[in-house]
Amino acid sequence: MAERHSKKETAHVCAVEGCDKPVHKSLSRKKIADVFSNLQPGGRHAGLCKDHYKEYKKKTKKERELERLGW
Ligand SMILES: [Zn+2]
Repeated sequence: MAERHSKKETAHVCAVEGCDKPVHKSLSRKKIADVFSNLQPGGRHAGLCKDHYKEYKKKTKKERELERLGW
């Protein structure tokens, strides 16, 4: 018998479309959608893998820095 991935497991992978890495951090979908426009459909919360979470943090940090500079 070949083992197959059950569909339930996909709830614990990154919400960014095309990415199937395990979730590192769960965040509000609204917040993530500001950074990633290609999110898979789901509930109010969405998980990001380590890499995408890093990217998310980087982008949100940049915005904050720009605000501080008065842009
Ligand atoms: Zn990812």
